[in-house]
Amino acid sequence: MPATKPPPESVLISESRLQHRIRELGAQISTDYENQELVLLGVLRGSVLFFADLARAISATGPPNPDCGVRVRFEFVQLRSYHESTKPSKVQLIHGGSDYLEHRHVLIVEDIVDTGYTLKFLREHLGTLNPKTVKVCTLLDKPAQRQVPVAIDYIGFEIPDTFVVGYGLDYAQQYRNLPYIALLESI
Ligand code: 5GP
Repeated sequence: MPATKPPPESVLISESRLQHRIRELGAQISTDYENQELVLLGVLRGSVLFFADLARAISATGPPNPDCGVRVRFEFVQLRSYHESTKPSKVQLIHGGSDYLEHRHVLIVEDIVDTGYTLKFLREHLGTLNPKTVKVCTLLDKPAQRQVPVAIDYIGFEIPDTFVVGYGLDYAQQYRNLPYIALLESI
């Protein structure tokens, strides 16, 4: 049970809508990578809850299905963005992105794509690690503020140009554990 009940107007995407859509994404990814090994590459910290639910929505190899499903491996990267008002954001790798990705199918798992700078940086960084393929799955897409074009293969929800929190997304490190996506301005 959540500790606090949100004001109804603050909920942009309810817990049940999130979970329903994540099951759909998991089913699609299971089909696309059937019988293959897939490295899920989570972008810390915002994607943690999405990552955990998505991973469990992808059909696993193992009992009772040893001969089908997806052989999933977990890797993580942590990035930091610097936002300067007059310049494009700069992104820096803090940790992760190991040589293990070489010759593997990699699926980047993101919380939200906004300007696109983070994803552009990560794709360029992964390019140096020589993966077999790289695709992107984001829970939220906010195309209104896009500054650089980025290809996204799986999108949970497209949202309007508004600041959201919850389900991993923070404001000053708060609200990450809300089980739904909320509009910050109405919390
Ligand atoms: P981008 O590089 O695409 O502009 O931004 C990606 C990062 O910006 C996300 O991983 C997230 O940390 C942050 N971000 C962008 N929009 C929002 C938002 O509406 N809410 C929160 N909490 N973070 C956001």
